[in-house]
Amino acid sequence: MVISSTIADYDQNLHSTFASRYVRTSLPRFKMPDQPIPKDAAYQIISDELMLDGNPRLNLASFVTTWMEPECDKLIMSSINKNYVDMDEYPVTTELQNRCVNMIARLFHAPMGEDDTAVGVGTVGSSEAIMLAGLAFKRKWQAKRKSQGKTCDNPNIVTGSNVQVCWEKFARYFEVELKEVKVKEGYYVMDPVKAVELVDENTICVAAILGSTMTGEFEDVKLLNELLTKKNEETGWDVPIHVDAASGGFVAPFLYPDLEWDFQLPLVKSINVSGHKYGLVYAGVGWVVWRTKDDLPDELVFHINYLGSDQPTFTLNFSKGSSQIIAQYYQFIRLGFEGYKNVMKNCNGNVMVLKEGLEKTGRFNIISKDVGIPLLAFSLKDSSRYTVFDISESLRRFGWIIPAYTMPPDAQHISVLRVVIREDFSHSLADRLIADIVKVVNEMEDAQSAASMSRARNGTPSDDSTREMQRGITKYWRRFVQGKKTSSVC
Ligand SMILES: *Cc1c(COP(=O)(O)O)cnc(C)c1O
Repeated sequence: MVISSTIADYDQNLHSTFASRYVRTSLPRFKMPDQPIPKDAAYQIISDELMLDGNPRLNLASFVTTWMEPECDKLIMSSINKNYVDMDEYPVTTELQNRCVNMIARLFHAPMGEDDTAVGVGTVGSSEAIMLAGLAFKRKWQAKRKSQGKTCDNPNIVTGSNVQVCWEKFARYFEVELKEVKVKEGYYVMDPVKAVELVDENTICVAAILGSTMTGEFEDVKLLNELLTKKNEETGWDVPIHVDAASGGFVAPFLYPDLEWDFQLPLVKSINVSGHKYGLVYAGVGWVVWRTKDDLPDELVFHINYLGSDQPTFTLNFSKGSSQIIAQYYQFIRLGFEGYKNVMKNCNGNVMVLKEGLEKTGRFNIISKDVGIPLLAFSLKDSSRYTVFDISESLRRFGWIIPAYTMPPDAQHISVLRVVIREDFSHSLADRLIADIVKVVNEMEDAQSAASMSRARNGTPSDDSTREMQRGITKYWRRFVQGKKTSSVC
């Protein structure tokens, strides 16, 4: 991103240890070099620099997949040069995306017969999927208002204050007011009662989250559907529901098949899911499916023919890679329903290991629920001496990337640590993590008691070198972490 900041006090040139065997001059950092360099030098320079990135497998901040089978890696590499949009040239890739859309729509109980085809599209991720779903709602609402001779200047969307940033993006980019139901201490998801109270004639949809980013908790879509149906009947409106199942869409069907959250509920008109989260594919794939053809306004679909035959497209981007779609198809056929279920069960098992380990320390409150996304969100029972931010920073020392953040409004005074459990997080890593958390917490407590002992001895609370040192370390880590990350959770 052009507006990203760079580390200020660095040299304007890149120097490299091993690559100096190949090149003797340093490279400018922000200016394209005048001359080419040998390919092995370029490779060495970049891979040396990338060594300083964190290890993706230890990045417990993110839902996004960091491991796939080598066979799938092979398929990805062999399709890396295929542009997905060239559907005429790569009809098989297009066919695979269509199969994925149909599998997902059926997994989410779209009302369709054996021979019907689903309405949906592969995207770069849930963010693009949500932009498309939001646009469809906005367009449908506008068309209806126009046909009734009513104004359509002030569309709004109702969500919880716990929504992922992409909803705020949608609202700002596409000029829709975001009406947020505030969360509160002890209840960190959208309250359906309050959401329905916020609904008015300008509401294009209520967005419920299946798997809140903050705590992994599922919002009560069934109750929302009930309350909204009643409100629609009373008012004559037909406000629909979108389910943001970015993280939960590939969890709930396997772990909680009886949970009603999807197209089984009549007001749910579209659902997005991230293929690169629990869909188990590397970053770069999401999906949006609509209940029926009628829920996607025709005028949003473009028909192009300059690459060959007529192609309907409904995406924000034109060109993109094919690999992720192919990888998604691989996971679907490789794992099947039972395979996904096993993976999710395993993740849940590791959540429980971690939960028990943390409970045993007696220092944490577990905020996340047992039913939800496989993650553990927890807060400190006592933050008077050190905070979850200190723990997060100290854990970087061991390579763990575990974000600490404050809850959304009106629960900002609560801060939590969140550990996302993915397929590649093993039981032994869970044990290791618990040991490291205990170590970090003990160290901080020891430093604190040493500090208070020396205070007691000297009787001078201000002259406290241990505490100063601790503070210095904390400050260093904070700066280090802030310099590294763009946002805490994704
Ligand atoms: C991750 C996430 C998103 C954004 O999804 P991307 O696939 O990263 O674009 C949106 N909503 C929720 C609830 C999420 O967890």
